Amino acid sequence: MTTPTALLTPAVGDPTAAVHAAGVGKVFSTKDGEVTALAGVDLDVAAGEFVSLIGPSGCGKSTLLRLIADLDAPTSGTLEIFGKPARRARIDQDYGIAFQQAGLLPWRTVAANIALPLELHKTAAAERAARVDELLALVGLEDFADRYPDQLSGGMQQRVAIARSLAARPKLLLMDEPFGALDEMTRERLQGELARIAAETGAAVVFVTHSIPEAVFLSDRVVVMSPRPGRITDVVDTRADGPRDETLRESPAYFARVTAVREALHGAPLTRANER
Ligand code: ADP
Ligand code: MG
Repeated sequence: MTTPTALLTPAVGDPTAAVHAAGVGKVFSTKDGEVTALAGVDLDVAAGEFVSLIGPSGCGKSTLLRLIADLDAPTSGTLEIFGKPARRARIDQDYGIAFQQAGLLPWRTVAANIALPLELHKTAAAERAARVDELLALVGLEDFADRYPDQLSGGMQQRVAIARSLAARPKLLLMDEPFGALDEMTRERLQGELARIAAETGAAVVFVTHSIPEAVFLSDRVVVMSPRPGRITDVVDTRADGPRDETLRESPAYFARVTAVREALHGAPLTRANER
Protein backbone atom coordinates (compact mmCIF):
# COMPACT_ATOMS: atom_id res chain seq x y z
CA MET A 1 0.00 0.00 0.00
CA THR A 2 1.32 3.44 -0.83
CA THR A 3 1.17 6.20 1.74
CA PRO A 4 -0.54 9.35 0.50
CA THR A 5 2.17 11.93 -0.20
CA ALA A 6 0.23 14.47 1.86
CA LEU A 7 1.28 12.52 4.96
CA LEU A 8 4.95 12.51 3.98
CA THR A 9 5.27 16.11 2.83
CA PRO A 10 4.92 18.65 5.63
CA ALA A 11 2.47 21.39 4.72
CA VAL A 12 3.72 24.94 4.21
CA GLY A 13 3.83 26.67 7.57
CA ASP A 14 4.23 23.37 9.43
CA PRO A 15 6.09 24.20 12.68
CA THR A 16 7.07 20.54 13.13
CA ALA A 17 9.05 20.46 9.85
CA ALA A 18 12.63 21.55 10.52
CA VAL A 19 13.27 22.55 6.91
CA HIS A 20 10.86 22.92 4.01
CA ALA A 21 12.39 23.92 0.67
CA ALA A 22 10.20 24.02 -2.43
CA GLY A 23 11.46 24.86 -5.90
CA VAL A 24 14.49 26.64 -4.48
CA GLY A 25 16.82 28.16 -7.05
CA LYS A 26 19.86 30.39 -6.74
CA VAL A 27 21.45 32.37 -9.55
CA PHE A 28 24.61 34.39 -8.84
CA SER A 29 25.36 37.35 -11.07
CA THR A 30 29.09 37.58 -11.67
CA LYS A 31 31.17 39.76 -13.97
CA ASP A 32 31.38 36.78 -16.35
CA GLY A 33 27.61 36.35 -16.42
CA GLU A 34 25.10 34.35 -14.44
CA VAL A 35 25.91 31.19 -12.48
CA THR A 36 22.98 28.92 -11.66
CA ALA A 37 24.13 27.39 -8.38
CA LEU A 38 20.83 25.67 -7.57
CA ALA A 39 17.72 24.82 -9.59
CA GLY A 40 14.40 23.37 -8.47
CA VAL A 41 15.50 22.05 -5.09
CA ASP A 42 12.71 20.39 -3.08
CA LEU A 43 13.77 19.18 0.34
CA ASP A 44 11.90 18.42 3.55
CA VAL A 45 13.75 17.64 6.75
CA ALA A 46 11.55 16.39 9.56
CA ALA A 47 12.09 17.37 13.19
CA GLY A 48 14.84 15.19 14.63
CA GLU A 49 15.92 13.89 11.23
CA PHE A 50 19.60 13.75 10.20
CA VAL A 51 20.04 14.56 6.52
CA SER A 52 23.37 14.79 4.71
CA LEU A 53 23.97 16.62 1.44
CA ILE A 54 26.64 14.97 -0.68
CA GLY A 55 27.92 15.69 -4.16
CA PRO A 56 30.95 16.87 -6.13
CA SER A 57 32.57 20.22 -5.45
CA GLY A 58 30.52 23.09 -6.86
CA CYS A 59 27.14 21.31 -6.85
CA GLY A 60 25.63 23.89 -4.51
CA LYS A 61 25.78 22.16 -1.12
CA SER A 62 27.16 25.20 0.71
CA THR A 63 24.82 27.51 -1.19
CA LEU A 64 21.80 25.47 -0.08
CA LEU A 65 22.96 25.50 3.53
CA ARG A 66 23.59 29.26 3.39
CA LEU A 67 20.07 29.81 2.05
CA ILE A 68 18.59 27.72 4.89
CA ALA A 69 20.65 29.79 7.35
CA ASP A 70 19.48 33.03 5.68
CA LEU A 71 23.06 34.05 4.97
CA ASP A 72 21.93 34.57 1.39
CA ALA A 73 18.50 34.72 -0.28
CA PRO A 74 17.12 32.33 -2.91
CA THR A 75 16.35 33.68 -6.38
CA SER A 76 13.27 31.47 -6.63
CA GLY A 77 11.16 29.12 -4.53
CA THR A 78 10.25 29.09 -0.86
CA LEU A 79 12.18 28.15 2.25
CA GLU A 80 10.78 27.67 5.73
CA ILE A 81 12.46 26.71 8.98
CA PHE A 82 10.05 25.31 11.58
CA GLY A 83 7.25 26.83 9.50
CA LYS A 84 8.80 30.31 9.57
CA PRO A 85 10.47 32.33 6.83
CA ALA A 86 14.26 31.80 6.94
CA ARG A 87 14.78 35.41 8.06
CA ARG A 88 12.50 34.98 11.10
CA ALA A 89 14.20 31.72 12.08
CA ARG A 90 17.60 33.44 11.96
CA ILE A 91 16.41 36.30 14.16
CA ASP A 92 14.89 33.77 16.60
CA GLN A 93 18.18 31.79 16.55
CA ASP A 94 16.32 28.58 15.86
CA TYR A 95 19.46 26.77 14.73
CA GLY A 96 23.15 26.31 15.47
CA ILE A 97 25.74 26.67 12.73
CA ALA A 98 29.16 25.09 12.24
CA PHE A 99 30.83 25.74 8.92
CA GLN A 100 34.15 24.82 7.27
CA GLN A 101 35.78 27.93 8.62
CA ALA A 102 35.58 27.89 12.40
CA GLY A 103 34.62 31.59 12.38
CA LEU A 104 35.64 32.23 15.99
CA LEU A 105 35.94 35.69 17.49
CA PRO A 106 39.72 36.19 17.89
CA TRP A 107 39.39 38.53 20.88
CA ARG A 108 37.35 36.02 22.90
CA THR A 109 38.74 33.01 24.71
CA VAL A 110 37.64 29.49 23.81
CA ALA A 111 35.16 29.49 26.70
CA ALA A 112 33.80 32.93 25.76
CA ASN A 113 33.37 31.86 22.13
CA ILE A 114 31.37 28.80 23.21
CA ALA A 115 29.32 30.96 25.59
CA LEU A 116 28.28 33.40 22.86
CA PRO A 117 24.96 31.74 21.83
CA LEU A 118 24.10 31.38 25.54
CA GLU A 119 24.67 35.11 26.07
CA LEU A 120 22.44 35.86 23.08
CA HIS A 121 19.80 33.58 24.61
CA LYS A 122 20.22 35.41 27.94
CA THR A 123 21.14 32.24 29.84
CA ALA A 124 22.01 32.99 33.49
CA ALA A 125 25.76 33.19 34.24
CA ALA A 126 25.99 30.10 36.48
CA GLU A 127 24.11 27.91 34.03
CA ARG A 128 26.21 29.32 31.20
CA ALA A 129 29.47 28.42 32.94
CA ALA A 130 28.25 24.88 33.66
CA ARG A 131 27.15 24.40 30.07
CA VAL A 132 30.47 25.69 28.72
CA ASP A 133 32.35 23.18 30.94
CA GLU A 134 30.14 20.38 29.66
CA LEU A 135 30.78 21.37 26.03
CA LEU A 136 34.53 21.75 26.57
CA ALA A 137 34.60 18.19 27.88
CA LEU A 138 32.51 16.97 24.99
CA VAL A 139 34.98 18.23 22.39
CA GLY A 140 38.03 17.38 24.52
CA LEU A 141 39.21 20.94 25.15
CA GLU A 142 38.91 21.15 28.96
CA ASP A 143 42.50 22.40 29.23
CA PHE A 144 42.08 25.13 26.63
CA ALA A 145 39.17 27.17 28.05
CA ASP A 146 41.28 30.31 28.55
CA ARG A 147 43.25 30.16 25.31
CA TYR A 148 42.55 32.39 22.32
CA PRO A 149 41.67 30.97 18.88
CA ASP A 150 45.05 31.85 17.34
CA GLN A 151 46.73 29.69 20.00
CA LEU A 152 44.91 26.59 18.73
CA SER A 153 45.41 24.28 15.74
CA GLY A 154 42.83 24.39 12.93
CA GLY A 155 41.27 21.15 14.16
CA MET A 156 40.95 22.49 17.70
CA GLN A 157 39.36 25.70 16.43
CA GLN A 158 36.85 23.58 14.56
CA ARG A 159 36.00 21.68 17.75
CA VAL A 160 35.33 25.03 19.47
CA ALA A 161 32.99 25.97 16.60
CA ILE A 162 31.14 22.65 16.99
CA ALA A 163 30.79 23.16 20.74
CA ARG A 164 29.47 26.68 20.11
CA SER A 165 26.88 25.39 17.60
CA LEU A 166 25.56 22.99 20.24
CA ALA A 167 25.61 25.45 23.15
CA ALA A 168 22.00 26.61 23.06
CA ARG A 169 20.70 23.07 22.39
CA PRO A 170 19.16 24.09 19.05
CA LYS A 171 16.45 21.96 17.44
CA LEU A 172 18.27 22.33 14.12
CA LEU A 173 21.98 22.17 13.35
CA LEU A 174 23.41 23.35 10.04
CA MET A 175 26.89 21.95 9.44
CA ASP A 176 29.10 22.44 6.38
CA GLU A 177 31.99 19.95 6.34
CA PRO A 178 32.63 20.62 10.03
CA PHE A 179 35.03 17.69 10.35
CA GLY A 180 36.94 18.35 7.11
CA ALA A 181 40.04 19.74 8.85
CA LEU A 182 40.31 16.98 11.48
CA ASP A 183 42.54 13.94 11.60
CA GLU A 184 40.73 10.64 11.01
CA MET A 185 40.69 9.54 14.67
CA THR A 186 39.30 12.83 15.98
CA ARG A 187 36.90 12.88 13.10
CA GLU A 188 35.46 9.44 13.92
CA ARG A 189 35.22 10.32 17.61
CA LEU A 190 33.33 13.55 16.87
CA GLN A 191 31.08 11.74 14.39
CA GLY A 192 30.15 9.36 17.20
CA GLU A 193 29.56 12.28 19.57
CA LEU A 194 27.45 14.14 17.02
CA ALA A 195 25.32 11.04 16.34
CA ARG A 196 24.79 10.61 20.09
CA ILE A 197 24.00 14.31 20.66
CA ALA A 198 21.56 14.41 17.73
CA ALA A 199 19.79 11.29 19.03
CA GLU A 200 19.68 12.53 22.63
CA THR A 201 18.56 16.09 21.91
CA GLY A 202 16.23 15.19 19.05
CA ALA A 203 17.82 17.94 16.98
CA ALA A 204 17.42 17.83 13.22
CA VAL A 205 20.71 18.16 11.34
CA VAL A 206 21.49 19.24 7.78
CA PHE A 207 25.07 18.12 7.24
CA VAL A 208 27.26 18.82 4.21
CA THR A 209 30.08 16.39 3.52
CA HIS A 210 31.92 14.83 0.63
CA SER A 211 32.70 11.69 2.62
CA ILE A 212 30.35 8.81 1.76
CA PRO A 213 31.13 6.78 4.93
CA GLU A 214 30.65 9.88 7.10
CA ALA A 215 27.26 10.63 5.49
CA VAL A 216 26.10 7.03 5.88
CA PHE A 217 27.33 6.71 9.47
CA LEU A 218 25.49 9.84 10.58
CA SER A 219 22.37 10.14 8.46
CA ASP A 220 18.79 8.96 8.24
CA ARG A 221 18.79 10.08 4.60
CA VAL A 222 21.59 11.04 2.22
CA VAL A 223 20.66 13.60 -0.43
CA VAL A 224 22.80 13.23 -3.55
CA MET A 225 23.40 16.36 -5.65
CA SER A 226 24.86 17.01 -9.10
CA PRO A 227 26.37 20.24 -10.47
CA ARG A 228 25.53 22.71 -13.28
CA PRO A 229 22.98 23.50 -12.15
CA GLY A 230 22.96 22.10 -8.61
CA ARG A 231 20.06 19.66 -8.27
CA ILE A 232 19.00 16.78 -6.09
CA THR A 233 19.45 13.65 -8.19
CA ASP A 234 18.81 10.96 -5.58
CA VAL A 235 17.82 10.45 -1.96
CA VAL A 236 19.13 7.31 -0.25
CA ASP A 237 17.50 5.95 2.90
CA THR A 238 20.33 5.25 5.35
CA ARG A 239 18.33 4.80 8.55
CA ALA A 240 20.14 2.48 10.99
CA ASP A 241 18.38 -0.26 12.97
CA GLY A 242 20.36 0.35 16.15
CA PRO A 243 22.52 3.07 17.68
CA ARG A 244 25.14 4.81 15.53
CA ASP A 245 28.21 3.53 17.29
CA GLU A 246 31.42 1.73 16.37
CA THR A 247 29.53 -1.57 15.82
CA LEU A 248 27.58 0.11 13.03
CA ARG A 249 30.78 0.93 11.09
CA GLU A 250 31.53 -2.78 10.81
CA SER A 251 28.05 -4.06 10.02
CA PRO A 252 27.10 -5.50 6.60
CA ALA A 253 24.01 -3.23 6.50
CA TYR A 254 26.31 -0.19 6.80
CA PHE A 255 28.51 -1.40 3.92
CA ALA A 256 25.40 -1.98 1.81
CA ARG A 257 24.29 1.61 2.45
CA VAL A 258 27.77 2.94 1.60
CA THR A 259 27.55 1.06 -1.71
CA ALA A 260 24.05 2.42 -2.36
CA VAL A 261 25.22 6.01 -1.85
CA ARG A 262 28.36 5.46 -3.93
CA GLU A 263 26.27 4.10 -6.79
CA ALA A 264 23.80 6.99 -6.52
CA LEU A 265 26.74 9.40 -6.66
CA HIS A 266 28.79 7.79 -9.42
CA GLY A 267 26.19 5.73 -11.25
CA ALA A 268 25.74 1.98 -10.76
CA PRO A 269 28.46 -0.26 -12.27
CA LEU A 270 25.89 -1.72 -14.67
CA THR A 271 24.97 1.75 -15.98
CA ARG A 272 28.63 2.61 -16.53
CA ALA A 273 29.23 -0.66 -18.39
CA ASN A 274 26.26 0.14 -20.63
CA GLU A 275 27.70 3.53 -21.48
CA ARG A 276 30.94 2.09 -22.79
P1 ADP B 1 29.71 23.20 -3.01
O1 ADP B 1 29.56 23.65 -1.61
O2 ADP B 1 28.81 22.05 -3.36
O3 ADP B 1 31.14 22.88 -3.38
P2 ADP B 1 28.91 25.91 -3.66
O4 ADP B 1 27.54 26.00 -3.10
O5 ADP B 1 30.00 26.55 -2.88
O6 ADP B 1 29.25 24.39 -3.99
O7 ADP B 1 28.90 26.55 -5.11
C1 ADP B 1 27.96 26.21 -6.12
C2 ADP B 1 28.22 27.04 -7.37
O8 ADP B 1 27.90 28.40 -7.13
C3 ADP B 1 29.67 27.02 -7.83
O9 ADP B 1 29.69 27.03 -9.23
C4 ADP B 1 30.22 28.31 -7.25
O10 ADP B 1 31.29 28.79 -8.00
C5 ADP B 1 29.02 29.23 -7.34
N1 ADP B 1 29.01 30.27 -6.27
C6 ADP B 1 28.91 30.05 -4.95
N2 ADP B 1 28.90 31.21 -4.27
C7 ADP B 1 29.01 32.19 -5.20
C8 ADP B 1 29.06 33.63 -5.14
N3 ADP B 1 28.98 34.29 -3.98
N4 ADP B 1 29.18 34.30 -6.31
C9 ADP B 1 29.23 33.65 -7.50
N5 ADP B 1 29.19 32.31 -7.61
C10 ADP B 1 29.08 31.59 -6.50
MG1 MG C 1 30.98 23.79 -0.04
